[in-house]
Amino acid sequence: MIIITKPNATEQQVDHIVERVTGWGLRCEVSRGESRVVIGVIGPEDLIREMPIAAIPGVESVTPVLKPYKLVSYEFRGMHSPVAIGGVSIGGPEVVVMSGPCSVESREQIVSIAKDVKAAGARILRGGAFKPRTSPYSFQGLGVEGLKLLAEAREVTGMPVITEIMDTKDIEAVEQYADCLQIGARNMQNFALLKEVGRSKLPVMLKRGLSATIKDLLMSAEYILSEGNFNVLLCERGIRTFETATRNTLDLNAIPVLKAETHLPVVVDPTHGIGLREHVAAMAAAAVAAGADALMVEVHNSPELAKSDGEQALLPDEFALLMNRVRAVAEAVGRGL
Ligand code: PEP
Ligand code: MN
Repeated sequence: MIIITKPNATEQQVDHIVERVTGWGLRCEVSRGESRVVIGVIGPEDLIREMPIAAIPGVESVTPVLKPYKLVSYEFRGMHSPVAIGGVSIGGPEVVVMSGPCSVESREQIVSIAKDVKAAGARILRGGAFKPRTSPYSFQGLGVEGLKLLAEAREVTGMPVITEIMDTKDIEAVEQYADCLQIGARNMQNFALLKEVGRSKLPVMLKRGLSATIKDLLMSAEYILSEGNFNVLLCERGIRTFETATRNTLDLNAIPVLKAETHLPVVVDPTHGIGLREHVAAMAAAAVAAGADALMVEVHNSPELAKSDGEQALLPDEFALLMNRVRAVAEAVGRGL
């Protein structure tokens, strides 16, 4: 349910609405717009319907959210809500770029790549310590050792760190070293994991599943918010289609659709989306033109030796060129980088 206050409602009236509604055993999420305040009410629908919310002074309207996803819906906030990773805000006026290798492989590797991507303008460092590999015989990641190396790279560069969590049992370890939890495409509907990260204090980036619809993605995000964690970013990373010329098909359509459907920031991963190094920059530029709030781009200083995803990783110099291209597009659409 959504409460919209009158344009001239006072701060005291807003406080009173929140007090009254929480007194009924319901939870409130307050979003302040320029002229009105939107209060999202969370709790059992029948209890909400029974309460005389419309009678509270300062309330203009009380509307149910008819969509199956409630807390993630745009109406629930009535505005886009930026999410901070470390000190970096995503979903504000500036486009943010997250970058780093697919997997953390060694101290030298992660620190050197972190320095290179930072110099080119990346603001957040990515790197996998727990890797979801198609084959059980492929490199599975360095685990906790990889998390420690990511934290060292953060020490050196000052960049906050995002890394994937694959199993609920790893939550404490990942929380100890990372600034943002990544849920990978293959785990988008691992509901036990979604609930676990929903109880975390860290922001969560949820990647779209390989065969998931936009609605499936939003319903999965709803699991995280329903546990109390509203700091969620959605990531379009390409879906499976009949096309075989590219690794996946980056669904650019998802960007404007998600911006309209949800208040959550939208991240695009052109690297996994196309899977071909020479075309990553084109798709990064297209994503920013279509309204992406952030990009996630894989970079490696020696792609032919990479333990995962070498064929799609950019060299640091290529990444610097991508950044120039993306900066020009960001400026053209009225956003900085
Ligand atoms: C990754 O970011 O390295 C990754 C494994 O991504 P996805 O879950 O989108 O395949
Ligand atoms: Mn990868």
